[in-house]
Amino acid sequence: MQLIFLGPPGAGKGTQAQLLAAFWKIPHISTGEILRACAIAKTDLGLKAQAYMDRGELVPDRVLMDMVQERLKEPDASDGWILDGFPRTVPQATFLEELLDGGGLRAVNLDVPDEILVVRLLARGRKDDTEETIRRRLEVYREQTAPLIGFYGDRNQLITVDGDRSLETVTVELKKLLEPASPSL
Ligand code: AMP
Repeated sequence: MQLIFLGPPGAGKGTQAQLLAAFWKIPHISTGEILRACAIAKTDLGLKAQAYMDRGELVPDRVLMDMVQERLKEPDASDGWILDGFPRTVPQATFLEELLDGGGLRAVNLDVPDEILVVRLLARGRKDDTEETIRRRLEVYREQTAPLIGFYGDRNQLITVDGDRSLETVTVELKKLLEPASPSL
């Protein structure tokens, strides 16, 4: 299982990715979480990334590409993974495609209307969840990440799910749509 989650901030990517990863016993790899951990540890990379994150901007592609390439080499990722927050740009998606050399990657697009996203993000109250940053993150999503819907659609790898429903309903639907086929006897 190689799964990525598209969808704007607040669509529920992190929550769904975490639940499904636990269910299928594969790692949930959140690039945002890795970057936040580096920022807390005050590594060079973390401090640099923090400035972008605080403004709601994307951290440069090269940083994320190196980070994901290293993470996917870890032994726990050999049987599959769920990437949450990567790729977020077309160059990142192209990089991942080349890294994986084709394969059975699937991209889930969680669809949620903007007005619901803002309410959800303000309620979450993370450090980068101020109204101004939220507005910028939604703009950045539309400009740089939304084109990935077409990217994966063209490759027949896209699954779009209505994310404006209860957490449980969305999880049940995702399991049904993504459940690996039972092995043939
Ligand atoms: P997230 O936790 O996925 O909402 O990510 C929080 C922040 O981390 C984003 O607003 C970006 O600044 C940064 N970030 C996470 N993943 C990426 C990525 N794939 N490309 C660039 N920046 C990223």
